[in-house]
Amino acid sequence: LSFQSLGISEPLLAGIRDMGFEHPTPVQQLAIPKLIAQPTDSIVLAQTGTGKTAAFGLPLLQHIDTSARHIQALILSPTRELALQITQDLRDMGKYLPGLHIVTVYGGSSIQQQIRQLRQGAQIVVATPGRLMDLMQRQALQLQSVQWVILDEADEMLNMGFRDDIHFILQHASQRQCCWLFSATMPAEIRQIIRQFMHEPAEIVV
Ligand code: AMP
Repeated sequence: LSFQSLGISEPLLAGIRDMGFEHPTPVQQLAIPKLIAQPTDSIVLAQTGTGKTAAFGLPLLQHIDTSARHIQALILSPTRELALQITQDLRDMGKYLPGLHIVTVYGGSSIQQQIRQLRQGAQIVVATPGRLMDLMQRQALQLQSVQWVILDEADEMLNMGFRDDIHFILQHASQRQCCWLFSATMPAEIRQIIRQFMHEPAEIVV
């Protein structure tokens, strides 16, 4: 199976070629065609290290309108390290998409600098929940234009105590078309998020 046969566009194929990806991993094989064809709510049960960033990143980059400068997608990550890694991976995959702008927001770093970056306009925001809440409270960032919400390592975010923040954020991304939830496990708190915020999600289990 090739990346090409999964329906990925030419500029993204060139990006992953430069990254040295030759064949899609199992989670990429299952998730990419589904998330490209029908961007509906989806749950993906996958461990870390299985290639899940490209599994959501490639479909997302294919859907993003890079000629616009409003926030179209929000990716939530449990840690600053993962948020930065996701951003780097998306930039590498999207290397041949002119006009792609991604901003990373996370705690422990200058909020003023992140506010300045947000003002310049981005299509994708990669965030840790606490800093995102802070930026929303300062009205430095609004979620009403967000179409895609991706929860990466959702079980880890809940383990770290971000349950209320995630509920608040999902409530405020009220115009979203879909939510993609990635998790290695499905504890009760995740099933509650699925019941409360997701509509007939497709399930992808690797
Ligand atoms: P992830 O689960 O997204 O953190 O990916 C784990 C590691 O596998 C990262 O270093 C990726 O760059 C790498 N990777 C992801 N997909 C592929 C692929 N299709 N071929 C080769 N390496 C990959």
